[in-house]
Amino acid sequence: MPRPVIDTDECTGCGICVDTCPGSVLDIVNDVAAVVNEDACTACGDCMEECAMGAITEIEED
Ligand code: SF4
Ligand code: SF4
Repeated sequence: MPRPVIDTDECTGCGICVDTCPGSVLDIVNDVAAVVNEDACTACGDCMEECAMGAITEIEED
């Protein structure tokens, strides 16, 4: 299953990805986005599309 990874150097903490995610996978922790509920990620890709900073990528993980 792919899972999202946040580049915290690029993330501005805007929260758009948190609001976009249908599965409550992401939250703002210490002013940057964090993956807080990885199991709920369906790899829909919406967070990556909405992030203006390009701070979210997905990696494949078994
Ligand atoms: S949308 Fe991008 S910049 Fe905004 S909080 Fe999420 S990862 Fe950070
Ligand atoms: S890929 Fe979809 S389900 Fe997974 S964190 Fe991003 S918006 Fe949420």
